[in-house]
Amino acid sequence: MKSEDLSKFHELVVLRLKELLSSRHGLTVKDNKEDVLEAASRFDAADLNELVFALRRIEKGIYGQCVICRHDIPVDVLKSNLNARLCPSCETVMREKTDPSN
Ligand SMILES: [Zn+2]
Repeated sequence: MKSEDLSKFHELVVLRLKELLSSRHGLTVKDNKEDVLEAASRFDAADLNELVFALRRIEKGIYGQCVICRHDIPVDVLKSNLNARLCPSCETVMREKTDPSN
């Protein structure tokens, strides 16, 4: 992913974290990313953890990479789900594997 895209997603993820923290926990978090991370880490909530995970991957520069095949996940997919870890084809494979009707 291009670095300009990475920083765009960085903003989106931090914004989403702040929204979650303020709506669910009544916390007003300053713009400082460390504050947001600190606040998020105090709560054991799956969606917060997912966003923190996404943020860490942005910092490592590997955000948007499928965790299985390492191909890029389409930006549209990431926009609709900031926590997406799988590319569409791996997603399909995983869904078929875990679908009990198969
Ligand atoms: Zn994949």
